Amino acid sequence: MSTSPPTADAIVPDSPHRESAESLLRWAIAVLELDATDAADGRTVIALAEEDREAFGGREQVVAAPAESAAGDEQPLAVDSLLGAWLLEKLRGRDGAAHARPAGQPMSVGDVSTKLFPAYTVDGGQFRLAGCQLTDHPFLRLTFPGTTDDPQLRHVFVAPDGSSVSEELVGRLGLNDLAAAGKPTPRIDEAAIRSLSSAGRRIAAKSSTRRDPSARAIDPLATTVAWVRHAEGRLLFEIGESSEELAFSGWARLLEPKPWTARRSGTATFHLAATDSGEIDAAEEMAVCQQSGRRVLREDLVTCSVTGRHVLPEFTEKCPVTGRPALRSEFAVCDQCGQRVSRAALEESLCQACRDMTPVRKDDPRLAWIMGEHRGLERWNRWRLAETETVYIARADGLTKRLLAVIDKESLAVRRLATAGRFAPGWVDATKAQQTELLH
Ligand SMILES: [Zn+2]
Repeated sequence: MSTSPPTADAIVPDSPHRESAESLLRWAIAVLELDATDAADGRTVIALAEEDREAFGGREQVVAAPAESAAGDEQPLAVDSLLGAWLLEKLRGRDGAAHARPAGQPMSVGDVSTKLFPAYTVDGGQFRLAGCQLTDHPFLRLTFPGTTDDPQLRHVFVAPDGSSVSEELVGRLGLNDLAAAGKPTPRIDEAAIRSLSSAGRRIAAKSSTRRDPSARAIDPLATTVAWVRHAEGRLLFEIGESSEELAFSGWARLLEPKPWTARRSGTATFHLAATDSGEIDAAEEMAVCQQSGRRVLREDLVTCSVTGRHVLPEFTEKCPVTGRPALRSEFAVCDQCGQRVSRAALEESLCQACRDMTPVRKDDPRLAWIMGEHRGLERWNRWRLAETETVYIARADGLTKRLLAVIDKESLAVRRLATAGRFAPGWVDATKAQQTELLH
């Protein structure tokens, strides 16, 4: 280990993650889980294990003290003291690195549940974790010495893939607050540590304020593998016989409840419910059919154009005049064209189409089409026409008589044929014989 000031060739990396040597060494005492007791004036008494005594001349304990006030046989908390060197060596352990974890990161499946569960509500059902896999991933922290002018130590972080870790992510993952890794420590082979360490040195060289392409970073004082826990799994929502899933994946510490997106409505929600037919969707999308009382999806209901009630389409019919649905009970027959129309289109027993008939010339394409099928109608003049979604309503005014023809738009079949006196109020349906005569 070299603790001498950096030579001209080696550079000290620049990093926003800094701490004093004393702070690092106190951290080492904690992470190594030494038998340490805090005493007055920042002193820490370390009771040495049998095998550690030789390094300190056979003593049973050492007193660690702040470097500036260490006196007598107290050991200064400095990287170049006997205690400092010994702690750094011990940190290096068997594989060359200390092992630690971000303090307070979720470790168990229970911790993950605690983070996710409070966000969800399932009406009339329940939810649980259906599979949750927790894995540990090695981030590396390289700790470099400072300079004579600026003795703070500098940490450089490396992600498991060898890339640098943004300052923001260091904070979010808790890499600046590392605790002992605990047992059992996840395994990593030395080659992997070396490879991450090389990546870290390249990052350190690049992050230096000196822009020298041949520059290399000085050797790190300490290397720490920070084990970051990753969680991956599924939430299972169950209502009656139906179920839906929501997958999650991410660093355990950063896990946040995500909304579930309903299959049919496409609504993203934390609140799930089911229709009466057992379809799970967003509770916000549930609605009740005002005719049947059934719980369904809002998008499955239509609005009755007469009553304004929200009902299932099966209780409605489309009005041929307005083109809008209405409850079956809200239909009546028009006195003139004989169509079943919604009450919204009726006024004084006449549908809107019959009320709004417009004069047309005999060569109007619609009229010409009708006459092509029913030649007899050509004998009539002064036509008026209206149309609904399904029929043409045509009326001709003669000198003594009027004629009404209601013709199916698709088949041109006659739905109603009637006549009336010039000034008589009502229509009289033509008999079969009269029909033949009128149409041919
Ligand atoms: Zn009508």
